[in-house]
Parts: sequence; C-alpha cells; structure tokens
Amino acid sequence: MKKHDKFFLNGLWVSPDSTQVHEIINPATDEVCAEVPLANEIDCVRAIESARAAFPAWSSTTANERSDFIHKAADELLNRADELADAITLTMGCPRHICPNLQVLGSIQAFRAYADRAKTMEEIEQRKGFQVLKEPVGVCTLITPWNYPLSILIGKVAPALAAGCTMIAKPAEQTPLQDFIVAEVFEKIGLPDGVFNLLTGIGPEVGPVLCGHPEIDMVSFTGSTRAGVQITESAAPTIKRVCLELGGKSPLVITKDADLAAAVQYGVQNVMMNTGQTCSALTRILVDESVYEEAVSMAKQVAEDNIVGDPLDPQTTMGPLSSASQKSTVVNYIRKGIAEGARLVTGGEEMPTGLTQGAYLAPTIFADVNNQMNIAQEEIFGPVICMIPFRDEGHGVELANDTVYGLSSAVFAKDRESALAIARKIKAGQCFVQGANFTTDAPFGGYKRSGNGREWGEEGISEFIEIKAVLGR
Ligand code: ADP
Repeated sequence: MKKHDKFFLNGLWVSPDSTQVHEIINPATDEVCAEVPLANEIDCVRAIESARAAFPAWSSTTANERSDFIHKAADELLNRADELADAITLTMGCPRHICPNLQVLGSIQAFRAYADRAKTMEEIEQRKGFQVLKEPVGVCTLITPWNYPLSILIGKVAPALAAGCTMIAKPAEQTPLQDFIVAEVFEKIGLPDGVFNLLTGIGPEVGPVLCGHPEIDMVSFTGSTRAGVQITESAAPTIKRVCLELGGKSPLVITKDADLAAAVQYGVQNVMMNTGQTCSALTRILVDESVYEEAVSMAKQVAEDNIVGDPLDPQTTMGPLSSASQKSTVVNYIRKGIAEGARLVTGGEEMPTGLTQGAYLAPTIFADVNNQMNIAQEEIFGPVICMIPFRDEGHGVELANDTVYGLSSAVFAKDRESALAIARKIKAGQCFVQGANFTTDAPFGGYKRSGNGREWGEEGISEFIEIKAVLGR
C-alpha cells in the first residue's frame, strides 16, 4: 500500500502540522489502497507562504528558462508514465490498458506545448501612445477533481508555469497519488523551491484558506458546480480571479439524414469512455423523431457491447465508478429517471453480471426522456445517457440549449456544412461536428453554469496573465 506522510512545500518534503490521515479506496475492490495526510490551516498557510516567497524570482525568469523547465518536466513525466497510469487506475478505476492514452500521454504532450507558449509572455504590443505588456497573475491555488486527475492538473500547472506564476496544488481526496509523482518530478528537475507546492486535504475544510487567503491571487478550479460556488464565495472578499471548469449536460444533435450508426456509436462511447465521468460527456442524445426508435436500438447495442469489469483486465472497456459514493449518486439518478417515467432501455442499478464487489454499474440508456426531467437537466456523472426525440432541427437546437450548462456539444448531420450551421447555434464552449475528437490544442471551457474562462490551447495561458498598459512616450 502506498503511504505518503509529507507535503511538498518550498522544494522540500515536509511533515504536516496536522496528524489526520485519509485512506484512499480502490473502487474496483473496495479496499484501502493508499494513505495521505490531510492538511489543516497551518499546513495551507505554509504552502501559501512558500508560493508567495518564490513568486518574485520565478516571475522574473526568462521565457526560455521556464520553457526549459517545462520540457524537462515533460521528459521526466514520460519516464514515469507507467507509474502515473498505475496510480490513476488504482484510485479511480480507469481500465489500465486504456489509461495511458486517455489519461496520461496526451496530457504530457500538452504540457510540452506550453514551453512555446511561455514565449508569448515576452511579446510587447506597441499601440498608438502606449504599450501592452503581459505579467503573471501571481500565486495560484489549483484544485482538481478525480475524473482526469493528471490531465486536469497539467491543464493548470502548464500554463501557470509558462506564465511565471507560482502555485499550490490540491488534488481530489479520492485521487491524490499522481500529484505526488508530479511533485517528485519537479523536485528531480530542480524547479526552484516554492514554485510548485503540493498538499492534500478535504475540499470544504482547506478550501476557505486556499481560496480565501489574501496572499492568493487566483484560484483555478475544476469540479462540481456546488464546489465552484463555495470557492467563488471564499475568493470574493479579496476579489481574486477565479477560473472555473464545472459541470455539463452536453447535447449530441443527430439529424434525420446523418449517418445514424456512426453518430450513435460516437455518442454512446463518448459517454461510456470514462464510465460517464467526463464533464464534457454528451449525455443527452437528441435525435430526429423519424429515426429515433432506430437510434435507441442502436444505442442499446453499443452500450451492451461494453465489457464492464476489472480495470486490470485488458478485455475491460469500462471500469467501476470512481467511488462507492459516486455509484450511489448515479443509482439515485437511475431510480429518479424510472420514477419520472423514462424508459430504461438497458443497464440500471443492478451490479453488472459476474461482478460481486466494487463500484460497478452497467452502461445505462434511458429513452423517451423529456428534457424537463431531472435526469435530463442535472449532471449525473455516470454511465447514463438520456435519449430525447425532436421534431425538426429548430426544435433540436432549442432542446440542446435548454440547459443551465454549456460546456460541450456535438452534431451529426448530412454533411459538414449542415452540421456547422447547427454548431453555430449551440450555446456551448465546444462543439464536435461529424465525429471529431478532443484535442488539448483547442480552448476548452463553459458557457453559463459550466464555468468561465478557457483552459488548454493558446487561450489556456490567458487565465494566468495580468495585462498592463504602459502609457507615455
Ligand atoms: P465531487 O463532489 O464529485 O467529489 P467536488 O467538486 O466536490 O466533486 O470535488 C472536486 C475538487 O474540489 C476536489 O479536489 C475537492 O476536494 C474540491 N472541493 C470540494 N469542495 C470544495 C470547497 N468548498 N472549496 C475548495 N475545494 C473544494
């Protein structure tokens, strides 16, 4: 069992002031698989002071120096890719054979892209009578969730480093292990002390300090809308910048003349990929009513083709939910869907065949869903899809936008042009047309209650930048 008993603060592995520890449960076996300390207020303040002390020197480094560190860190993360994948599979159940591609290698590649983006920090824009400069925003708290624990961490650390910010990382309670590897990597490459600090703790307990302390300039958070609200409240009295990547209830619009089989395959697998635990998952499949029943039977088949089981088995395509408590949240939504009158096409609350322990659920499809139902409006964060019919394209777009969220979306239509016309009408930060794949080169973020700001791509660094105008000749 992996036991960590120190935090990484100011370049050193430091014993916590707190004596509390947290046991991590492997969701595939329900057994304790690791232990980490839980920070108290004193630990949080130490981390903040360390990041603050490191800021003047780190923010004065050249872009080239920061780029070198980013490349070195990416090289070393690659050396440790297997350990990173092991840690993620162990703590959140992503099938081990899928984990490197889904959770590890792409993010390391994306990390490297910020080496070049660091150079944009030195570009001075000369306008009529003034210059516009870019400066790092300062000391950042980075709070990450458990569904893509490494990628989301890198999506924050990479631009923060590139911009010249210092930081405190706080991983989710369920999945802290990869963060310790990341801290070891920064220690090994000799990143200056205090630039990256790591502590573990219970969100609502450490949140008020990490998000409210006057020496914090910015909070970057990915997680639930509920936690996003609390973080914003903690940060409000000192007017910090708060960047939020929150929930979603993203639509996939399928028109009557689209390639139905390709569209349904894409949509169902998009959701089942990480056991439904992807904030941008296309969990509402909206289909033209003339091909709706056909789409429902196709979706049933694609869902049932998944092999649910042990994440260490190379045959497995879908692992457990990340925790027993997440499973119980999802089960409650499945019950709610049935009570609301939706038609359960496949899946449900029972343990999938052949499994007796672990946080498993079968891929679940609801048909005849009305967009006003709770299961169509609330983020479930599990392998559950709502299929909703629409009368015509206008109605499809109306349903797509009839949500408090706006993170992602997708369209399958007759051809690219027709799909693009629909894509332009959808209120969401991303839209995937005709089966496109996710890329960390594209800006990612939400409209409405899905959050604010953009991560990844060139836009990802903007969150970590202050703009200064220098006027005069
Ligand atoms: P879930 O409810 O699915 O666990 P959360 O949004 O609560 O998702 O968790 C995502 C991250 O947010 C975790 O790192 C968690 O510790 C953190 N978190 C939760 N509540 C707060 C809070 N009030 N302040 C700061 N961080 C929080």
